[in-house]
Amino acid sequence: MSGLKRYYSDLPKKRKCPKCEKTVRTTVRYKWGWFSCLVSCTLCSIGCCCSAWMPFFAPDAQDAFLHCPDCGHLFGAHIKLDICVD
Ligand SMILES: [Zn+2]
Repeated sequence: MSGLKRYYSDLPKKRKCPKCEKTVRTTVRYKWGWFSCLVSCTLCSIGCCCSAWMPFFAPDAQDAFLHCPDCGHLFGAHIKLDICVD
């Protein structure tokens, strides 16, 4: 994830796209990450194993990636929990 611009929120933002050069409102795509795993493990440890799958589908527990709606350019991401593996 190095080199990726970080955002402090996953709300859509108005940005000028460097690829298609249009001013756009970013679209947000969610993907599960370390925070989803942490929430899932926490749910298991408190006896809610049946709900452990939920963080992998709930946007609040996932990382958000901000894209250009026209060309799909990735502006950056809101990573909730970053574990450096370099
Ligand atoms: Zn674009």
